[in-house]
Amino acid sequence: MPAYDPDNIFAKLLRGEIPSTRVYEDDETLAFMDIMPRADGHLLVIPKTPCRNLLDASPAQIAAVMQTVQKLSHAVIKGLGADGVTVQQFNEAAGGQEVFHLHMHVLPRKEGDRLRPPG
Ligand code: IMP
Repeated sequence: MPAYDPDNIFAKLLRGEIPSTRVYEDDETLAFMDIMPRADGHLLVIPKTPCRNLLDASPAQIAAVMQTVQKLSHAVIKGLGADGVTVQQFNEAAGGQEVFHLHMHVLPRKEGDRLRPPG
């Protein structure tokens, strides 16, 4: 697996070098709006420390990211009135990954809706 690239777009976003709409932050994780949302309220959750994807993640990074995913899943149900939540995560290009800093998609869902296509 290739090494972590400190100039990937989410690393730049973490350093404040590119803009983002931040919705949640704690010591270990950051959540922000996906720039091309596939559902209303589509969020991304990332660890603040370098990590290429799930294959590269430490147990502490996985725990921290998943705790934030769970917190925000409750929040979108309560705050946005979502009926459910789809959580997605891609690993390496063959697995559909485009940005090589670990991230989990949090997609608020409504009964009977469809996710919009990527891009
Ligand atoms: P993935 O690696 O296949 O999970 O896709 C990367 C995701 O990051 C896509 O959903 C993009 O819309 C999203 N994305 C790419 N650049 C930005 C950005 O600058 N801000 C927020 N989301 C982004």
